[in-house]
Amino acid sequence: VQACLARIEATEPKVQALLHVDAEGALATAEAMDKIGPDTSKPLWGVPVIVKDVLTTKGLPTTCGSRMLENFVPPFDATAVAKLKDAGAIILAKANMDEFAMGSSTENSAYHPTRNPWDLGRVPGGSSGGSGACVAAGQAFAALGTDTGGSIRLPSSFCGGVGIKPTYGRVSRYGLVAYGSSLDQIGPMTRNVADAATVLQAISGHDPRDSTSMDLPVPDYLAAVDSADGLKGLRIGMPKEYWGQGLDQEVETLCKQAMDTAKSLGAELVPVSLPHTEYAIATYYIIAMAEASSNLARFDGVRYGFRDKQATSLLDMYKQSRTKGFGDEVQRRIITGTYVLSSGYYDAYYRKAAQVRRLIRQDFEQAYSQCDVICGPACPTVAFPLGDKTADPLQMYLMDIFTISLNLAGLPGLSLPVGLGKDSGMPVGLQILGPAWGEEKILSVARSLE
Ligand code: GLN
Repeated sequence: VQACLARIEATEPKVQALLHVDAEGALATAEAMDKIGPDTSKPLWGVPVIVKDVLTTKGLPTTCGSRMLENFVPPFDATAVAKLKDAGAIILAKANMDEFAMGSSTENSAYHPTRNPWDLGRVPGGSSGGSGACVAAGQAFAALGTDTGGSIRLPSSFCGGVGIKPTYGRVSRYGLVAYGSSLDQIGPMTRNVADAATVLQAISGHDPRDSTSMDLPVPDYLAAVDSADGLKGLRIGMPKEYWGQGLDQEVETLCKQAMDTAKSLGAELVPVSLPHTEYAIATYYIIAMAEASSNLARFDGVRYGFRDKQATSLLDMYKQSRTKGFGDEVQRRIITGTYVLSSGYYDAYYRKAAQVRRLIRQDFEQAYSQCDVICGPACPTVAFPLGDKTADPLQMYLMDIFTISLNLAGLPGLSLPVGLGKDSGMPVGLQILGPAWGEEKILSVARSLE
């Protein structure tokens, strides 16, 4: 804990990955644990972990990167956080994020942007950019992120870490402030595959408080990683839609090199197709915004969050609290989401998107009849300069092209660092996607390629 706090002190003025550091609490917990002595039954005993600020932490501020929740201190831990503590982890800090997890660069945080530790002029990715950057800066050994459309995998790839978005239902969403409830999953962001397996193990499993969490046994992920031994006989699907035009040269080169390594380790590369990829961005942004508009209706200035004290009537209080409490991107999404759900437009937008979502899911089912895992780049580019895409939301949304289909289909995916781009010197991430409940498989493939 002391070493991580020293790292925070040294790096935080430049990186700004965090919103709240609980130095006192973490040191006190560590001291109390020292007195008991190591408990080997707890796999994360004494390990400092940082948590994205969209997960509730008992007694610690939870802002979701928004002014709306500036003063919110929840009275309970999210299940994933409680499970981390049960496994012996020490919660050190809360990580910066795009407001309510809406964004791909962490520039939508209401507090400050986070910078990429590899190049302070560039973004760390988003929306879990604080989590990606704090791990890359050595501020903690692991962080929790959340992934609605790529928010674990994109910052992991931009910051050179390992990040897993688990199968929908693997990790309880209780205590995760909802963005797109049918898409959101919590997952680990770490420096290597074994650490990701250990943290995933700790947070997975059924939770009666989340009716979408699955009642399935949790496999031994670390054993899967430890026993990884080449890729003999593994069929890796290479979707033509992920390896075609629009890919930056340095991203393509490094991801292809990783595929050559896979081949030399015994894998067979199989061409597959995910034909509805071209509709994924439109489909995702309709569904995610629709769900967001509904989920964010609770922030009305009455129960929790910011309330405009100058308001003159109840309606004015709703209006002013939401106008002043939410940033531009959040308001854009609430308005768009409300529009696509409104009675005159529901069939044309929301229902249509739900239908296309099914086709996207079927694309994966079809592909997995020909292969065991699917590989492609996590993002078409490396981390981009701050301010590069803030003026044009569509440019920002396009960053998600390779990550969002997975959320629409509810499947697991992992981002693995495969080297530094020749021109930019920035990390490049390869995505390894698996069938439902295939976390063991993608972890062991990742370990073999690490
Ligand atoms: N960039 C996507 C969005 O803004 C994904 C965000 C996420 O996964 N939370 O919606």
